[in-house]
Amino acid sequence: MAAGTFELITKHGDHEQVVFCHNKDVGLKAIIAIHNTALGPALGGTRMWNYKNEEEALVDVLRLSKGMTYKAACAGLNLGGGKAVIIGDPKTQKSEALFRAFGQFVGSLNGRYITAEDVGTTVREMEQIFMETPWVTGIPKAFGGSGDPSPYTAHGVLMAIKASVKEQLKTDSLKGVRVALQGLGNVGYHLAEYLHKEGAVMTVADIDQEKVAKCATMFNAKVMSPDDIISADADVFTPCALGAVINDQTISKLKAKIVCGGANNQLAEPRHGDMLKEMGILYAPDYVANAGGLMNVFVELEGYSPDRALDKTVQVYESLMQIFAIAKTENIGTHKAADRLAEDRIRQIGKLRQTHMGSSARPFSTLREVKNR
Ligand code: NAD
Repeated sequence: MAAGTFELITKHGDHEQVVFCHNKDVGLKAIIAIHNTALGPALGGTRMWNYKNEEEALVDVLRLSKGMTYKAACAGLNLGGGKAVIIGDPKTQKSEALFRAFGQFVGSLNGRYITAEDVGTTVREMEQIFMETPWVTGIPKAFGGSGDPSPYTAHGVLMAIKASVKEQLKTDSLKGVRVALQGLGNVGYHLAEYLHKEGAVMTVADIDQEKVAKCATMFNAKVMSPDDIISADADVFTPCALGAVINDQTISKLKAKIVCGGANNQLAEPRHGDMLKEMGILYAPDYVANAGGLMNVFVELEGYSPDRALDKTVQVYESLMQIFAIAKTENIGTHKAADRLAEDRIRQIGKLRQTHMGSSARPFSTLREVKNR
């Protein structure tokens, strides 16, 4: 690992700090990457994954933490970007001691990095981390946590669809707007509920037939097969399942004039964002549209209120309108305009703030202060 580590860091985003965490007794090998704290403490989940080698783990944490910087910046939050990876098999190598040891490393950063659940970790491990440090979100409601983020993510996606419909179809109402919804899991189901209330006409698909049947009945939705939903006769295509759904094989099948959903990494490659622009299809960049969950954990840091969390997701609408305006003015794809908005905010607000150096500079109160005493 030693050779080329700094080159990798420079290549993948010029991060402020990368912390290698090791505890032989409990089998902990983890990396915490803090990409940028110009806007506030770096927040991002802890992923546990059986990486092929240490370089793969390092590249993953560098890439993911940079993504969090952009997501928080576009969401208008006073947060920077960070992420952590634990190298190991989440099915066989989890233990209380391992996560408490990891929690001590998180604590040693004194609030510069705040962790949360991610692929391979659950609320149970967040509780174990919380035994060692207050700098963890997504803890159970009983501890003042915010619980399941997906209703808030879904509400943010609803705001994103409203902004996209306003921009592309020039209407404020979703009544009669045809939405093709792919994936009826935690986010997709809550979104279907919201869309139904707004009067949208839905076509839905999932590989789980029970979920499809439930949505068809509850929301009077038409049903399509998971393979065909991308070509549905709809105004909006809404991916809420897998990543890379917009790719060389699928892009020409799109009939919708808007792509806007909650799934992460919807574009197989950035060039597919350019292709959407050329085709006259409006793309709501995924990391902007699905930021409601991040907004929810941010509110947890301030002292949790479900109403405040829901209110915050309205920012998704505002941010997208700014992104659409930048894309038009500069004649670039919305995926590039989102990066531009994030970078502008980091530059402007970052100039007004000092680099976040730990608890003395942190803006948060309540839960974390109680736990710190
Ligand atoms: P989930 O696992 O609850 O739901 C995913 C759904 O997609 C499942 O119902 C699954 O059966 C279905 N699915 C899988 N393959 C499919 C296919 N080929 N065609 C149609 N349906 C398929 O996950 P979720 O929490 O709802 O998250 C959905 C997406 O949103 C993911 O990409 C996730 O990373 C992203 N996201 C979620 C949150 C959140 O708060 N949960 C926040 C940000 C981003």
